[in-house]
Amino acid sequence: MQGLHLTADLYQCSGDLSIFVNESALAALCRKQTELSGLTIVGEKWVTFPEYQGEPGGVTGTLLLAESHLAIHTWPETGGVTLDVYVCNFSGNNSSKAQQLIDGLVDAFQPAHVQRNNLLRGDKEGPVGSGELLLESLNDHAVYGFRFNRRILSRQTKYQHLELLESPDLGLTMRLDGCLMTAEKEEFFYHEAIVHPAAISHPNPRNALIIGGGDGGALEELLKHNTIDRVTLVDLDADVIDVSREYLQAINHGSLDNPRVSVLVGDGAEFVRTIEEKFDLVILDLTDPETPAGPLYTTQFFHECKSVLAPGGAMVLHLGAPFHEPEQVRSMTAALTGVFEHVSAYGLHIPLYGSYWALAVVSDVIQPSALATEDVQQRLADRHIDNLQYYNDEVHGALFALPNYYRKLLPEVTESSRVAELA
Ligand code: SAM
Repeated sequence: MQGLHLTADLYQCSGDLSIFVNESALAALCRKQTELSGLTIVGEKWVTFPEYQGEPGGVTGTLLLAESHLAIHTWPETGGVTLDVYVCNFSGNNSSKAQQLIDGLVDAFQPAHVQRNNLLRGDKEGPVGSGELLLESLNDHAVYGFRFNRRILSRQTKYQHLELLESPDLGLTMRLDGCLMTAEKEEFFYHEAIVHPAAISHPNPRNALIIGGGDGGALEELLKHNTIDRVTLVDLDADVIDVSREYLQAINHGSLDNPRVSVLVGDGAEFVRTIEEKFDLVILDLTDPETPAGPLYTTQFFHECKSVLAPGGAMVLHLGAPFHEPEQVRSMTAALTGVFEHVSAYGLHIPLYGSYWALAVVSDVIQPSALATEDVQQRLADRHIDNLQYYNDEVHGALFALPNYYRKLLPEVTESSRVAELA
C-alpha cells in the first residue's frame, strides 16, 4: 500500500492558455509527460465542463496508471490548475518517476506561484499515527499539528465553527474556526500562565473580569485565589459556554456554575464600554486578533479596559508567538506601553499553540517581576493554592526572564524609566 502522493496547485499560469479548455490537447500533454517519466498508462477519462457566465468551462481528466494515477483540473477563469500524482511503491520505488511527472507538468504551465504537498501513503508497518492529522498555521510559512482519533462535535455557531476532537496526547480538545483553543491534558500551561502571575502579584484581588474564556479554564484558575469574591465572565458565543459546560468539565471543573461567578453572553467590547463596576483584574482570554475578537486588540479598547480597572488593578492578555508573529507582539506591546505605566511581558512554551507564546501583565502599579520568590510562595500559601501543574514560586520569576529575540520586540525602556523602576 505504501506510496507517495504529490499535489501541486498552480496559480496564474502563463503557458499556452488555450490548453485549459482543449480536452484533447490537455490529454496529449499528460500522456506525453507520463510516458517521459516512465510510468505506465492503463486507462483514462476526460470531461470538459459547460460554459460558465459566457466563459468556456475547464477540463478534468484522469490517467489511470499501473502505479496508481494522475489527476488534473483546469480553471481557465483564473489560470489555475490542480495536479495530483499518486504512485504506490509496492513493486519498486516509483517516487522519482512521480516527481518527474509532476515537475514536467508544472513546467508546462509556467505558473506564477505553486503550492506543493508531499504525502507518504499507506505505511507498510500499518498506521503511523491514529487518526486525522490536523494542521494549524503559525504564520504564512509555518504550520504545526496533532493527530486526532475522532471528532466528537462539529457545529457552526452564530460566530464561529466549533469543534470538539479527541487526541491521545491532548484528550478532548476545542477548536474554533480551525484554531486550537484548549485541551484537557494540556490546558494548565496556558490557563495557569494567564491567571496566576497577575493574580499573585495583586495583594488582594477580590473582583475580576474575564473577557472571552468561555471554556472556563482561566476562570477555574482564578477561583483558586480565596481572595476572589466575584468573577464576571463575558463571552460572545453561548455555544462555547454550553459545550464547555457539557464536555469540558476536566478543564473547568464546573467553574462556569460557581456561585461566585456571573457568566454573561455578549461582546466584551460592548460590556467594557457600558459597565460601571471596577475590577482588580481583567483577563482577556480571547481568540486571536484575526477573529471576532479583533476590536479587542486595539489601543482604544486597552484604554477602555483601563477605565474599568480598580486602583492598583492589572490586566492580562496574550500577544501571540514572538518568533512566528514578531510584528504582532511588537505592535501590541507598543500600544499597551502607550496606555499603561508598566507592561510586563512574559512567555512560555505552550504545546497546544505549537510555539513559545507571549503574554503581558499591564498595570499602572503592579509589576510581577518585582515580586520576590518568597513573596510568591507566601501568597500561594496564604491563598491555599497548592494544586498547580505549571506555575510555582520559581516559575513566577522565570516567566518574566525573556529571551533576547523577544526582549528586542518590546518598546525601549528609557534609562529614566528604568531608573524609576529600580527606585
Ligand atoms: N485560550 C484561547 C486562546 O488563547 O486562543 C482562547 C480561548 S476562549 C475559548 C476564546 C473565546 O473568545 C471564545 O470563546 C470566543 O467566543 C471569545 N470571543 C471572541 N471575540 C469576543 C468578543 N468580542 N467578546 C467576548 N468574547 C469573545
